[in-house]
Amino acid sequence: MSERTCRCCGRKFEHPAPASLSTKRDCHDCAQLPEGVRRVLEGHQGEIVRLRREVDQIRAATGVTMPKPVRRPKADAEGDGPVSTS
Ligand SMILES: [Zn+2]
Repeated sequence: MSERTCRCCGRKFEHPAPASLSTKRDCHDCAQLPEGVRRVLEGHQGEIVRLRREVDQIRAATGVTMPKPVRRPKADAEGDGPVSTS
């Protein structure tokens, strides 16, 4: 029994495991999905892995460890609305 990473969902799973439908590539849950769905998920998962690696490289190169939330400056939040009190 060894630990594997699911090609579809990226989850770690043990294979082979008793009462599990897992394969060398897919975890128990993903192994039950239709072939077409698995292929789409594998594509997404591969892209996620690639992007993670890129983010890690950028972080290592720039020293940025946490993305900062982008705050838009509040424009005309108060004062000049179409308010009429008369
Ligand atoms: Zn899976």
